[in-house]
Amino acid sequence: MRIVVFGAGVVGVTAAWYLAADGHEVTVVDRQPGPALETSFANGGQISASHAAPWANPRAPLTILKWLGRADAPLLFRPRMETAQWRWAIQFLIECLPGRTLHNTIQCVNLAVYSRDCLRALRATTGIEYDQLTRGILEFHTDRKAFAAAASAVELMRAHGGDREVKTVDECVAIEPALAACRERLVGGIFTAGDESGDAQRFTQELARLAAARGVAFRWGTSVESLVTDGIAVRGARCRSEADREQRARESIHTEVYIVALGSGSPQLLAPLGVPAPIYPVKGYSATIEVGSHRGAPTVSLTDLDRKLVFSRFGDRLRIAGTAEIGGHGTGLDRIRCDALIDRTFELFPDAGARESAKFWAGLRPATPSNVPLVGATRYRNLFVDTGHGTLGWTMACGSGRALADLIAGRKPEVDFAFTKPRK
Ligand SMILES: Cc1cc2nc3c(=O)[nH]c(=O)nc-3n(C[C@H](O)[C@H](O)[C@H](O)COP(=O)(O)OP(=O)(O)OC[C@H]3O[C@@H](n4cnc5c(N)ncnc54)[C@H](O)[C@@H]3O)c2cc1C
Repeated sequence: MRIVVFGAGVVGVTAAWYLAADGHEVTVVDRQPGPALETSFANGGQISASHAAPWANPRAPLTILKWLGRADAPLLFRPRMETAQWRWAIQFLIECLPGRTLHNTIQCVNLAVYSRDCLRALRATTGIEYDQLTRGILEFHTDRKAFAAAASAVELMRAHGGDREVKTVDECVAIEPALAACRERLVGGIFTAGDESGDAQRFTQELARLAAARGVAFRWGTSVESLVTDGIAVRGARCRSEADREQRARESIHTEVYIVALGSGSPQLLAPLGVPAPIYPVKGYSATIEVGSHRGAPTVSLTDLDRKLVFSRFGDRLRIAGTAEIGGHGTGLDRIRCDALIDRTFELFPDAGARESAKFWAGLRPATPSNVPLVGATRYRNLFVDTGHGTLGWTMACGSGRALADLIAGRKPEVDFAFTKPRK
């Protein structure tokens, strides 16, 4: 079949890869001049299958209230006069109910664990390199109450294939010796030996290159503006490229199957068609520092749960990422939030690298209120979605792409997940 994938982030490119592997004729369309130039550009790098718990949980509303109005808060709600934001926020509160949290956690863990397996298989067959490290992820805690709550949730994760283990402070330092520098602050940790890390942008760029060699076509600098339907199927997509813009023209793409993997840009295309897309951008920040000859940077990927930060090592670089801001589509950098990232890093790891080398970035997580992504069919028989991966797009990309290829081929996906279905 002829298939077009809209979006060349980590989610769109992996979907294109698996579809091409099934023998389809695939074209990827993106407004940027290359792959992974928006949210997949500089994320936290964690393949955190066993840490896939959603942000919407019974403790979240109180935490958000506590941090309201604090410019350096890890999780910040910036109220706007915008219906989409308030609708999303209300749905988020509903997803914080214990029953919803349990359901969403199971969905996320199932897809994330499956996705990690798909990534491993892809790596084995292609030999793809992306500064990957398979040394596990250690979530360390500096707050006793939060640690007790996290430790009590370990069993739930284990029951669904997450290989998490509670660790003492000494065990944490043995796993990651760089933690010795902040040992007195630690109260314990939770380790997942099977989790991984790697540079999502490098992965996406490499996979796009391999996909191109396999015959996947890429159309860069092309924005998709709307889809045209006859009520049953999509008949075409209205697009505009740089050249069209100069000539004030538009072009149409006509193909057999359309896949929307536009991250935070997905609702603009789907909502006018009546396809549910409860996705709101949740802004996050990252800093990347050069480690150089410094000896105090961690190599095991870490999660600082109390500050909601992650640390991943990509060769000679240390990436620190986190913070969540629910406040619109802007990606501008706020100095206070940049400083909060870097201050915490050097507080914990004084010899982590060259502070002045820090490169800051902000991106928009395409978040659903439940954190469960939208993968599968829609009410239009040739329109599929692969979007809304929020905090876990890198973790879930391979599994989502592989499962979507299965659905399109009429095969039953190998993962137990609530795929989107045509609405009658
Ligand atoms: C600070 C931060 C840290 C994170 N850390 C992690 C982590 O450690 N582990 C993890 O699993 N996930 C992490 N994430 C989440 C992860 O980065 C995202 O879920 C993932 O990148 C989303 O990928 P995507 O392909 O859906 O979106 P994107 O990468 O944004 O790709 C969407 C593409 O669509 C294109 N596009 C949009 N609209 C249009 C249009 N109208 N026409 C044409 N093209 C369009 C864009 O140019 C873009 O290339 C983090 C995110 C942030 C912000």
